[in-house]
Amino acid sequence: MGAIIGGILWIILCALTATLAERKGHKGIGYFLLALFLSPLIGLIIVACISNKTQKLCPYCKKAIDIHATVCGFCGKELTKKNSTNAEKEKWISERIVELISTGKTATDAKIQAEAEYSVEKNNKEENKSTEANE
Ligand SMILES: [Zn+2]
Repeated sequence: MGAIIGGILWIILCALTATLAERKGHKGIGYFLLALFLSPLIGLIIVACISNKTQKLCPYCKKAIDIHATVCGFCGKELTKKNSTNAEKEKWISERIVELISTGKTATDAKIQAEAEYSVEKNNKEENKSTEANE
């Protein structure tokens, strides 16, 4: 009798592990089997440690928000990809400025030239993309 209750409890805990894994955006069945064969306790500990795929951290206020959110629900900041391309642009330009200064240019000239080169570079990339799409 005790064994049956234990078995039922075991299955319930396995199902709980699977449900929690699903909620975090992982495949529940995998964690169900893992808990079933190892131990639901180990399963639960692993599920507690795995990352939540349905959420991401807001880069501004560091709170957990929905992975698809475009505006943070806590601080109201926009989370568009624009920020990352801007960061990429600034990185590219600052590296180019350093290169240009090392060839003897003044900081102002280097900045103007680097920005001009970046826009050319960007246009080239976009052209490449559209030709690839046409092929
Ligand atoms: Zn935020």
